[in-house]
Amino acid sequence: MILLYYIEYNMVVCEFLDCKKKKLKYNIGRCNLCENDFCGKHRLPETHKCYNLEKERNKLIEQNRKELLDTKCTPLKIIKI
Ligand SMILES: [Zn+2]
Ligand SMILES: [Zn+2]
Repeated sequence: MILLYYIEYNMVVCEFLDCKKKKLKYNIGRCNLCENDFCGKHRLPETHKCYNLEKERNKLIEQNRKELLDTKCTPLKIIKI
């Protein structure tokens, strides 16, 4: 009984709308950006249109830009005379 309960507890309806509608239960994983539970198919932020993905992406872009600005000595700036 305890084992059955344990399995049932771990089966969660995927938060992705299509899966949610069908009320399919999966043994799934959690998105670490929005902390919702998804099936294996929708676990990646890209596949469930994670609302935190854009935020996270902007953070990365901002980070990259800073890194680019920090490295000023690039071969592109060398002008041949
Ligand atoms: Zn799903
Ligand atoms: Zn997410």
